[in-house]
Amino acid sequence: MKETASGFIAKSVIKAADKEHRRKINFNIGKYDAVVPQGKEQFSNVHLAREKAKNIKWKAIESLDKQLEMFEANITKRGAKVIWAEDATQALEAIRKICEEKNCRSIVKSKSMVTEEIHLNDFLEKHGIESVETDLGEYIQQLDGEPPYHIVTPAMHKSKEDVAKLFAEKLGTDPKATPVELTLIARYFLREKYTQAEIGITGANFIIPEIGGIAITENEGNARLTISWPKTHIVIAGIEKVIPSMADLSLFWPLLATFGTGQRVTVYNTIVTGPRQENEIDGPDDMFVILLDNGRTNILANEKQRESLYCIRCGACLNACPVYKNIGGHTYAATYSGPIGAVITPHLKNMDDWKHLSYASSLCGNCTEVCAVKINLHELLLENRHEAVELGYNSFGEKMAWKMWKQGMLRRKWMNMASGSMKNWIVNNLLKGWKEHRGKLEFPNKSFNELWKEKHKNI
Ligand code: SF4
Repeated sequence: MKETASGFIAKSVIKAADKEHRRKINFNIGKYDAVVPQGKEQFSNVHLAREKAKNIKWKAIESLDKQLEMFEANITKRGAKVIWAEDATQALEAIRKICEEKNCRSIVKSKSMVTEEIHLNDFLEKHGIESVETDLGEYIQQLDGEPPYHIVTPAMHKSKEDVAKLFAEKLGTDPKATPVELTLIARYFLREKYTQAEIGITGANFIIPEIGGIAITENEGNARLTISWPKTHIVIAGIEKVIPSMADLSLFWPLLATFGTGQRVTVYNTIVTGPRQENEIDGPDDMFVILLDNGRTNILANEKQRESLYCIRCGACLNACPVYKNIGGHTYAATYSGPIGAVITPHLKNMDDWKHLSYASSLCGNCTEVCAVKINLHELLLENRHEAVELGYNSFGEKMAWKMWKQGMLRRKWMNMASGSMKNWIVNNLLKGWKEHRGKLEFPNKSFNELWKEKHKNI
């Protein structure tokens, strides 16, 4: 078994039995579950809205090359520079060069999963550049030395008491501080960082080719400060973030807000179309947009998996997933966790090391049911399993087991020959791990076929 898979199983066993961990995430997901139905009330037909969003993303992804070129042409006209990065190394190198040019020692960052994907903070630290997370949840995670736990709510697994304790340890504050006091402490600290930073780095929720702009959605105003205070703004965005036109935002903004946090619309929605123009009084002197592939074109080339590029990272599928709710986000050991993470990680990284995530699903279909853009997530998980087998990544033991199973199922006499006790022995002793977390399986002495015949022999 691959190390990634055995690590996942080991962590899952621990987390699933950790009742306090489950209490905290179920409490936080419960609050989300309570408000999402209220957010959905803003749509006269929420199913049609999701269907329409799916069609718009289909259109964007099917013409991705043209959309991205149009974006580059339009945003370049307003003075921004577009950098195409095939992988994390190219993206990091581009950022390093900009930092060098700008003589940068300090960076403020707003929440961005793409920067997690390329491990930007570690890279900057190695180059002696301070990079401070300005989203409160991300700031908490950075203080704790942990990656985000959830794509929308980075510190979802922490209670307010956990955060107070962390601040007390790291910042010497009152261990009984209230959430309001904690927020003010973070705010006080972060405001100073904005004034020192030479560069601000953000992600992008949407890329809009029609106007050559990016759209950013946030609740704290920290992304706006990150864009507008430092003299240089760097955007890092996955190439799949395209929506064709400005008008599409009228659907995607409420959809992202409702499926992400249950809001009707997120507090701050910003469109950026370049650096400060001559007649403008604020904004950065320079703006760079790094368009990151990093495995996304593998998904684009795969006709079945392509629809996973429609994802708007609302996080709804994580909140709905019974596996995520038991094992939590860090167990996945991947940037993107939950159902969408299990679908895309094997393609963004590699199938052999990450296929196990696609098996961590009950295939209940709840993820598909809640997805803001109606991605058939559970079918894509099955498709990943299929692809892994086609690529020959299943073990010899598994291949043999299925071969024997097939032979047995095709020959009724063989099935009837095996007694109940023989089946019990095979399942309870040969299937490794079956009994560890389940009760013993007890087969009846006679097969279903024999029982059926007996019952109907006089009919
Ligand atoms: S797959 Fe769907 S539900 Fe999951 S994060 Fe993406 S858009 Fe949201």
